[in-house]
Amino acid sequence: MDAEPHMDLPRTVPTEEPIDFDLTCRRCGYNLRGLGIAGHCPECRAEVARSATPDLLRYSDVEWMRRTARGAHLLAVIVVVRIAVRHTILTLVQPEVFVTLITIALAALWAVAIWECTRRDPGHRPAPVVERARLGARILLIGIAALEIGLVTRDPTIVVDSIFTLTPGAASLLEWIFDALEVTAALLGFFLILTWARALADRIPDTNLATSTRNTRKGIAECYGVMAVLVAPWTLLTLVVTLPPRVVRIGDVVIGLVKVGATIGLLVCAVLAVILLFRYRAALVKAASESSEHWT
Ligand SMILES: [Zn+2]
Repeated sequence: MDAEPHMDLPRTVPTEEPIDFDLTCRRCGYNLRGLGIAGHCPECRAEVARSATPDLLRYSDVEWMRRTARGAHLLAVIVVVRIAVRHTILTLVQPEVFVTLITIALAALWAVAIWECTRRDPGHRPAPVVERARLGARILLIGIAALEIGLVTRDPTIVVDSIFTLTPGAASLLEWIFDALEVTAALLGFFLILTWARALADRIPDTNLATSTRNTRKGIAECYGVMAVLVAPWTLLTLVVTLPPRVVRIGDVVIGLVKVGATIGLLVCAVLAVILLFRYRAALVKAASESSEHWT
């Protein structure tokens, strides 16, 4: 937990004397050092005393919590729609132009949702690891959306092929590498966003939500680990080396089963992540309404 010097305020600070340490305004982030505890932030007029309360969400900036809650809600909906669309609607929809439009719209909404639910709390200085997780999630997950929009009409393998003229083997290897990179970026992005969310759970405070978040994050890491250690090397091996047919048959069955297991595991993690997003949204909406009663 955060143990900054303002944790014990306002009880320990005489109301007349100026604050003699760095104290961040919860609403706008202004440094309140030098001001009296009974005063107001010169930037946004928020009461100084409000910024000297413990670091809980229910004392935090209302607008930030509302926007983060809206982002979490939108992200949950988009994750569900994307999973549904990718495996059903997009394979049925004709003509191609609608597929392109749906893909662009979903990627754009996804980027907006990620941006909104990973906004920085203006009045809170998070641990460096949490701040890095927030920025990393933003870069990776918005980067994926940008790539999807950029590549929606161009298959990257075809683009490379038009420049270098690939053999069929090299083309499928390249396609596999592009897919593996996208999956890695997406899962790492979600791993990081859950790291950032877990720090929020500590500020609700909700131990149960924090534990569920940590377990979902662990599940993602384990399923990805199985894919990276077993499935990926086997797939690469069969793409690069010509093995005896019997070895390929046995390997395909064994690795196929492992892959099904890991895929089911990841789907379960996706469902859990969606439920978590709704729980965070509810907690943020509640904290925002409590906080709006404190703020003047
Ligand atoms: Zn302020």
